[in-house]
Amino acid sequence: MANILIFKQKNKISYHFFYNFAQQIPKLMKKLFAILSLTLLIAGCSESKETDQKSIFVTIPPLQALVNEATCGDFDVEILVPQGASPESYEPTSQQIAKLSDAELIFSTGLIDFEKSLTRHIDNSSRLIDLSQGIELIKGSCSHHHHHGHSHSHGVDPHIWTSPRALITMVRNIESALRTSYSDSTKYFDSVERIIDRLETLDKECGEHIAASGTKAIMIYHPAYTYLARDYAIEQITIEQEGKEPTPHQLVVLIERARTMGIKRIFHQPQYSPDKLSSIAEEIDAEIIECDPLSQDIEAEIRKVVELISQSNE
Ligand SMILES: [Zn+2]
Repeated sequence: MANILIFKQKNKISYHFFYNFAQQIPKLMKKLFAILSLTLLIAGCSESKETDQKSIFVTIPPLQALVNEATCGDFDVEILVPQGASPESYEPTSQQIAKLSDAELIFSTGLIDFEKSLTRHIDNSSRLIDLSQGIELIKGSCSHHHHHGHSHSHGVDPHIWTSPRALITMVRNIESALRTSYSDSTKYFDSVERIIDRLETLDKECGEHIAASGTKAIMIYHPAYTYLARDYAIEQITIEQEGKEPTPHQLVVLIERARTMGIKRIFHQPQYSPDKLSSIAEEIDAEIIECDPLSQDIEAEIRKVVELISQSNE
């Protein structure tokens, strides 16, 4: 009898203990949550994803990571031209246009055909930021025959984002837009300085590697490295002629030029179908290398291409 009584009491005690503990759980969770939030705040530019994040649009993939890093992951940074698509023949979908009206800012190179028509779709054009401001632009044709049926020989070459030097100017333009819209967010400006530091190192590296190698030219199907070539004093030999395949005569001239300049590698982007590529490569005994100037990690891509063109040809 006595044994049973003690057992019952013990049982009661443990029941009360767990009951009280269970009541404490929400309080403990709140405390833990408070500590976690504080840690995130102190970490500054670390991820602070919210469920109702505001959006910023960029037109092409290489701008996404830069804008995301500059704004410390505070926004949902969306890309208009999908990965693997050609920006020259791209048109925004009606869904994207609808989303554009909610975007805080829209960053564009300001030079690609579809970007120029974006103003039609946005009510307040001050949200549309042209990142080419301050860059010395190069005449060129980056149009494609399937786009308008004719080439724009008086156009501007839009591929500014593949040169570290032009990229620095573009990031400064991103910064000034952020200063206008979010003047209190000093963490953005610290973040921008870190990006600029990195790009300045990349710029130095590119200059040194190319100069040390004695490389005089880069051969590529589509003229994606026009500004890189200009900034580091090499020649870009483009196979595509004003958005079209080269004629047999142009092909002969190209092969001659490639031989003179000692071309051993030919670059091409997966977006463009290179019918004539293998015949040229065979003719000059060059290696075909796929590159991706529309990569989200544009810094790694530039570094890779510069290393390849700076390698000795043997
Ligand atoms: Zn292009």
